[in-house]
Amino acid sequence: MALIVQKYGGTSVANPERIRNVARRVARYKAMGHQVVVVVSAMSGETNKLIGLAKELMEEPDPRELDMIVSTGEQVTIGMTALALIDLGIKAKSYTGAQVKILTDGAHTKARILSIDQHNIKTDLDAGYVCVVAGFQGVDANGNITTLGRGGSDTTGVALAAALGADECQIYTDVDGVYTTDPRVVPEARRLKSITFEEMLELASQGSKVLQIRSVEFAGKYKVKLRVLSSFEEDGDGTLITFEESSKENNMEEPIISGIAFNRDEAKVTVLGVPDKPGIAYQILGPVADANIDVDMIIQNVGADGTTDFTFTVHKNELSKTLALLKDKVQGHMAAREIRGDDKIAKVSIVGVGMRSHVGIASKMFRTLAEEGINIQMISTSEIKIAVVIDEKYLELAVRVLHKAFELEDAQTD
Ligand code: MG
Repeated sequence: MALIVQKYGGTSVANPERIRNVARRVARYKAMGHQVVVVVSAMSGETNKLIGLAKELMEEPDPRELDMIVSTGEQVTIGMTALALIDLGIKAKSYTGAQVKILTDGAHTKARILSIDQHNIKTDLDAGYVCVVAGFQGVDANGNITTLGRGGSDTTGVALAAALGADECQIYTDVDGVYTTDPRVVPEARRLKSITFEEMLELASQGSKVLQIRSVEFAGKYKVKLRVLSSFEEDGDGTLITFEESSKENNMEEPIISGIAFNRDEAKVTVLGVPDKPGIAYQILGPVADANIDVDMIIQNVGADGTTDFTFTVHKNELSKTLALLKDKVQGHMAAREIRGDDKIAKVSIVGVGMRSHVGIASKMFRTLAEEGINIQMISTSEIKIAVVIDEKYLELAVRVLHKAFELEDAQTD
């Protein structure tokens, strides 16, 4: 007997018939003698709809109230899923985040999980229940409902699996695994049979939408066995997230690059003509961090004439807030010449542990983009990733040519 956490995304619970399908799968696992905890997202489109409703009243909704509104999407699906299970003759119980007691910090709309009380769930599992838990939501120390950021149900699933010491966390979605890139952009994209945890972390952080990054971080920290699968197929192995890369690095057959991620959600902020002296990065980014705005890429040029330019990226949704903040707190303060924002950018990243043992990957990437006349605006690298910011209108072209240049369509997947 194993303890399995199954997380179902929005498309997997998009209507009552699909919810019934989920219940049938859970029933099969129960029949095999396993204990099952189910985590569900809101029905697809529902969270967007709820955010839209809130925005009709207030352009930038108050975060506490926004959480109150959007968390209802998952409350519907837990009840529905429990109903479908009960209808199949299976003992089932639904739980909101607060009922489990998924304790988070108070950062509304992007809260972090601090702890999970597993007592109630364990008791119910031992009594033969399937526990159906709302994804995406938690509760802070003052009892306020919080949410974990878009895609946060993945994190609920993995965090629950970690807290319960589950044997496997299965993430069911509308694709049958992790692909070399988004098949909607590159039809030749291939499913990967396995991917290392580190690669998955980079892909998720670079914009691959398959798993929310926090969920991958959790999986890494607590060594949760994680698998991405399709809820529309009876069987299939999906993609396993592995913790071992040594076998992969040493295998000559393995492609050097595992995948290409992209992200249209970032915007670029440039502070022009700041003094080139100690403390400037802190003076610019300190207020941004204090406002809880996440910064991704950061570039500072070599100074000339005692001044320099400072560029970084933030989420598009936070561009106007960042610009206002900088104009208010930074521009006059340090006599910056100008502050510019650009939301017509996209980021493309190639990811692979094979980069560690191969040279020339960056130059191949840059040559490939140059041959298409695509200008690179920013570059950042890690040991297993190279990311570039380009004009958003070239995004799809860039992904296609890179997928071809790194021979990902030939990737051995099975
Ligand atoms: Mg999702």
